[in-house]
Amino acid sequence: MVHILLSVFFWFSVTHAMDVRVRIFSVPTTGIEIMGDTVQVTDGGAVPVSGAPLIQTVKISFADIFGAQWKIERNENLRVITDSYLKVVGKNMRVNLNRTPRKILLRPNESGAIDVIAVMNLEEYLKGVLPHEMPASWPEEALKAQVIAARSYAVSQIHSRFSRPYQLDSTIEDQVFRFQDARVEHYERRISKIVGETTGEVLKNGDGSVMRAYYHADCGGRTEQAHAVWDNGDKNPIVKDDHCLLNGSDQWTLNISVRDIEKKLRMKNVTEVKTYVRSGSGRVQSIIVKDKQNESIILTGQELRSKLGFKKLKSTLFDIQIKDKMVQFIGRGFGHGVGLCQVGSRALASKGMDHVAILKHYFPEAQLGKL
Ligand SMILES: [Zn+2]
Repeated sequence: MVHILLSVFFWFSVTHAMDVRVRIFSVPTTGIEIMGDTVQVTDGGAVPVSGAPLIQTVKISFADIFGAQWKIERNENLRVITDSYLKVVGKNMRVNLNRTPRKILLRPNESGAIDVIAVMNLEEYLKGVLPHEMPASWPEEALKAQVIAARSYAVSQIHSRFSRPYQLDSTIEDQVFRFQDARVEHYERRISKIVGETTGEVLKNGDGSVMRAYYHADCGGRTEQAHAVWDNGDKNPIVKDDHCLLNGSDQWTLNISVRDIEKKLRMKNVTEVKTYVRSGSGRVQSIIVKDKQNESIILTGQELRSKLGFKKLKSTLFDIQIKDKMVQFIGRGFGHGVGLCQVGSRALASKGMDHVAILKHYFPEAQLGKL
């Protein structure tokens, strides 16, 4: 294990001072086909195993998780090597038809598939994040505030997950990342300009460390403290935000039958669904659900959102009513509410506020600085 970590670390550290390892997708162990120009496969110790780099197709399969045995097939040549991961470098690469950056790692994961992990420069990574986290057509100052928050989040995770095989997932688990997505090609110049003009800019905590800056779609009038959402979260201040309230989609109602609630929570004869604890910002931190026998369960607001669907129960800023076998959630906002409010940022930028002032509004205790 030490060998694996040190050699990943070595490759990582010699490439660039601020590179990031991002899991971009997973492929089955039985069939990995890599196409591209000058594709070079090496083992963990950087020993070439695919022959001289050429325009080529390399087929790779992974024999078994415990034996860590890779079969690498190029033209008629078959090589078998044992290592915990492979490195692949090439131009215009596609792995099972999906485009990838120039450097990738292939590594088996716990679910029995192979993770494709891109090793790339932080700023290049952010170009693949920004248009997927905020529409690229939005005001430039809102996009700048967004990318600085995304950079700060990424750097904070790079630091805390330094020895892991990958530091960021390319899904909403961390930040959505897509490599050269055709849908955003139209905005490529704009995205490059915004990322370029803020290069290396991050939000810092009082002690100089880079802040794990969160962001969300719409706070509904008041942001949330990270510790009210996640066990290890910070006690950042709650910010009053009336800029997003002008957004028409801010208020929402979700109606769910009691029967559906029973199904989702695996309960019978539910008689009561009630707010149990509210957080400092007024969000539902936990709810209590009771049945006919007066048995009850308590769920956190986030657990309830995950059971009912994060897009259906849009936030935890809601009131509950039960009427005629229907449970009605009447709420505001969209997302966990921590950190930067995207809809509010758009409104502030439209009023002429710059990204420094927008960030100061949502992160009053942070300092804007350089990496
Ligand atoms: Zn807001």
